[in-house]
Amino acid sequence: MIFKYNKSNAQCMWCKRVDNPHPDYKNETIPTKVFVSEKGRKIELCLSCFESENNGAHNSNIEFKKKLDTKFEIVKLLKL
Ligand SMILES: [Zn+2]
Repeated sequence: MIFKYNKSNAQCMWCKRVDNPHPDYKNETIPTKVFVSEKGRKIELCLSCFESENNGAHNSNIEFKKKLDTKFEIVKLLKL
């Protein structure tokens, strides 16, 4: 699992953070990775949001991809 460090315009789509939470790297952007959902959406997540999603999906890749769509649709609906 490789997260991109200091990617320009990085933003987690769930928690909306853009800055690296680590105090030693606060001038860098947040490390993120782009995941592709079951419906083909590109979802950019930080490490902590990825971990909480992945734990909930019981480490199943299929469940994880479905969860990305479910959450994306909820976020869009609520305009978060
Ligand atoms: Zn996040």
